[in-house]
Amino acid sequence: MKIACTACDYSAALDRAVHPCPSCGEPVELHYDPGEIDPAAAIAGQGRQQGILSDLSPVLPPFAPTERVSLGEGGTPLVHLSRLGRRLGLPNLFLKYEGANPTGSFKDRGTAVALTQAVRTGYTLAGTVSSGNMAASVAAYAARAGLECHIMVPAHLRPEKVFTIAVYGPKLYRVEGDYSELYRKALALGRERGIFFAVSDEPFRVEGQKTTGYEVVRDLARLGLAPTHVFNPTSAGGHTAGLLKGFEEMAEYRAIATKPAVVAVQAAGCSPIATAFARGETRITRVEHPATEAHAIQNPFPPSGNRVLRALARAGRGAATAVTDEAMRRAQLALAHGEGLFVQMESAASLAAVEEWRGAGRLGPSDVVVLIASGSGLKNPGAFAPSDFPVADVRLDDLRWAIK
Ligand SMILES: [Zn+2]
Repeated sequence: MKIACTACDYSAALDRAVHPCPSCGEPVELHYDPGEIDPAAAIAGQGRQQGILSDLSPVLPPFAPTERVSLGEGGTPLVHLSRLGRRLGLPNLFLKYEGANPTGSFKDRGTAVALTQAVRTGYTLAGTVSSGNMAASVAAYAARAGLECHIMVPAHLRPEKVFTIAVYGPKLYRVEGDYSELYRKALALGRERGIFFAVSDEPFRVEGQKTTGYEVVRDLARLGLAPTHVFNPTSAGGHTAGLLKGFEEMAEYRAIATKPAVVAVQAAGCSPIATAFARGETRITRVEHPATEAHAIQNPFPPSGNRVLRALARAGRGAATAVTDEAMRRAQLALAHGEGLFVQMESAASLAAVEEWRGAGRLGPSDVVVLIASGSGLKNPGAFAPSDFPVADVRLDDLRWAIK
């Protein structure tokens, strides 16, 4: 097992934290030697709901059980969207509900692996740079592990989001300035001050994020199905890169016959990866003026952008696409009204993209389609105004006549 660059020939031993590549600046990842992981065993496992570090240990670094920093993440429901699927003519439409993770988002998978690595290599300080979900996740797992935690958030973060992070007791810095520059500066400071920054594309975090794909394959196999398409809301690119890495591993070890097409879904008002993909370019261009309310997927210069483009090209299928804020909001309400699932607006981007692809004839009834819903809608109740939903105000004496 070693650290290797996703773009150039650089590689390093695992005994030091290297990220990103000191030679070319692109993300690094974990490379396993043949036989070091066992994808077939991971898929055949029962999923005992004891956290990914236990349930999916055959495809993760060999951590001792006593080293694990876990809150029981993973094992999230794969919900059959029968009603929406019928409406769309997609009988095999599923949603992976990542809002069921301990802090309400997919980030907990990556945080569990990253902070376990931090603890076992002797770090006492951890942190991250995030606009919400990852900040809450790292703060919670740092508290769990007894690590001092330093969290950097953008200055515009809404107060109700700040509380979901602050409650775990980290040192919280609201930083004015360019967000992608903050990411680079924080990593440099981390190296200087000995802080393990579990950022979006930190290699151990990406190992955790790949487990979503393993669970999708495992849970569908029990129904006699295999995924043909996986739609994933994409911001910095770490989760999408992890999904692609997982499917690549499963195919390489012949644990699956065919890799599903992974579709990275972005907001139309900030879509550096989707734009580069549509133009057939191999590198992203910074979005100068992001224009979207979907802040959880609003990264104007995603650190794993080029890497996602490389992985999509290597996979030979899949795509990057963009949807409007309006389509996301419609999809968010369709999931809540139609299936009883309240996801973040950004998570609903995957359903919005499926609706578009179905309308354009890019998906058909024989496809097995999985939407990754990254986070719970309860994370962001301030996204709605009281006037968005009609409520009848009634005096108790009039109740009999009010129910219509
Ligand atoms: Zn490199």
